[in-house]
Amino acid sequence: MKYPENMLEVCELLPDYMGFIFWEKSARYFDGIIPELPKSIKKVGVFVNASLEEILKKIEMHDLQAIQLHGTESVEFCENLKKNIPNLIDIIKVFSILDTFDFDLLKPYEKVCDYFLFDTKGKLPGGNGTSFDWKVLEKYPSTKPFFLSGGIGMDNIEAINEILKTNLPIYAIDVNSKFEIEPGLKNIQLCRDATHYVSTIKKIKMSYNVNEKGYYGEFGGAYIPEMLYPNVEELRQKYLEITAQPEFKAEFDQLLKDYVGRPSPLYFAKRLSEKYNTKVYLKREDLNHTGAHKINNTIGQILVAKKLGKKRIIAETGAGQHGVATATVCALMGLECIVYMGEIDIARQAPNVARMKMLGAEVRAALSGSRTLKDATNEAIRDWINNPVDTHYIIGSAIGPHPYPDMVTRFQSVISEEIKWQLKEKEGRENPDYVVACIGGGSNAAGTYYHFLHEPEVSIIAVEAAGKGVNSGHSAATSKLGKVGVIHGCKTLLMQTPDGQITEPYSISAGLDYPGVGPMHAHLALTGRAEFFSVTDDDAMKAGLELCKLEGIIPAIESSHALAVLNDKNFKPEDIVVISLSGRGDKDLNTYIDYFKL
Ligand SMILES: *Cc1c(COP(=O)(O)O)cnc(C)c1O
Repeated sequence: MKYPENMLEVCELLPDYMGFIFWEKSARYFDGIIPELPKSIKKVGVFVNASLEEILKKIEMHDLQAIQLHGTESVEFCENLKKNIPNLIDIIKVFSILDTFDFDLLKPYEKVCDYFLFDTKGKLPGGNGTSFDWKVLEKYPSTKPFFLSGGIGMDNIEAINEILKTNLPIYAIDVNSKFEIEPGLKNIQLCRDATHYVSTIKKIKMSYNVNEKGYYGEFGGAYIPEMLYPNVEELRQKYLEITAQPEFKAEFDQLLKDYVGRPSPLYFAKRLSEKYNTKVYLKREDLNHTGAHKINNTIGQILVAKKLGKKRIIAETGAGQHGVATATVCALMGLECIVYMGEIDIARQAPNVARMKMLGAEVRAALSGSRTLKDATNEAIRDWINNPVDTHYIIGSAIGPHPYPDMVTRFQSVISEEIKWQLKEKEGRENPDYVVACIGGGSNAAGTYYHFLHEPEVSIIAVEAAGKGVNSGHSAATSKLGKVGVIHGCKTLLMQTPDGQITEPYSISAGLDYPGVGPMHAHLALTGRAEFFSVTDDDAMKAGLELCKLEGIIPAIESSHALAVLNDKNFKPEDIVVISLSGRGDKDLNTYIDYFKL
């Protein structure tokens, strides 16, 4: 901005930041006095290769709250600047993009600035009025929030709506030359239109993705013993960089295709649809190799482990499903595999123990405490602390300390990615009216929801296990019974006694028998983005048997919980309801036999 009167007009629209260019060669060069602005608007000084003294002088003179560096300022310069200004002043480093960009350049800047700003490379720094291909940003390997800039105008504002639906950590939209009458003079009517548009999409954009610190709203984070910090930190620093590499993506995709058997079909369940008078599609994760969605995550994580140079894999397992999925990928990659399992669970889950052994894994019994999942987790963590250099710990759901929930979610997000194009083929539209999934820790659900989180017309339904009834004392209905607490290294909703002891959960299905939910789901519950249902053992078993009779598919009992929603909610005949069939029922045959006295 250049003209005080114009500044005050723009202020009425309450932007978050207002910028002043202190580079003499710019047509927008400002050397006047900034009038008093509302306190909520941060004043940004824009500099191009200015000296530290010059910047400090302008901060003092104009009471600037942010510094935008538009030149070729080095990492050392930013670091020195940071040391010399109050912490509250934001440092925004600009990078100009043409058609490609080497994102490796950003890494050293992450620690020395608060935000990045991406604009279009032109002859002079800034204000060219042309936009770069935002697709370049698909490879953004960071969670550092950034300003999106470069040729944004009312003619391409729809594209902003689209890019805001992605998981990119877009912090702000920089509107400049296309909203001007002349350099430095804003067209108020255009600014008003843009403000209206952006504030509408801002409401939708309420983020359901993880932020830079590892939080979904108030949930998430990394609550870990100090001795574990180096291991988790190594992963946090590298996971996005590794998974954004084209070779990584190519190998992951190829294994999902040839080894897992993806894409899994999106099956229109005709007879089920007729019975409930709505359109039901089943996402057939039950057809994956090893019989459930868990393999998507273990393949992703073992590839990350390899890139980190790890030689040894550990995991914990309750019912044994995650142990089997981990043992499978270790055999595939020829890595040593140790699975911790409670002594009681080893006795209860003999077939899965046998599978793990056949696949070459060592199953180690956890002998302490209640000798179940919680104790196996403690043993696995102890192992990791003792073997930080050569070992990767594969967590089996969208839980654990940051970055695990986000990493697992991204690997599972292939589920919703496929749903989009499969539904487009079958129904001519990408978005269903509902997506439904069961939640234990929340990995199949997170993957099923992921690409729909920011599509407001898609309703999200989460189904947890009510066991013998929500208030029976035998359930796993965390969204109804849980309080904020820490489990597995993250802050989330957790079933606990008034003095904070974790309550023993119960469900007929082993995979839903977990006392918490992943932090993303706690956030979806709290914000109301997802509607939570609690389904009893009896209702789930009935729904499972119904799918056998109507469609010839024997579902996992976990997935049967999701199916039971068809009884609990009235869908309209024209609604498209996509249900995640997370796994097949083979593993549950004994439970079905006992329950139905077959
Ligand atoms: C493990 C499992 C689940 C529950 O785990 P999430 O992480 O909540 O998806 C659900 N369905 C099946 C078939 C499973 O094996």
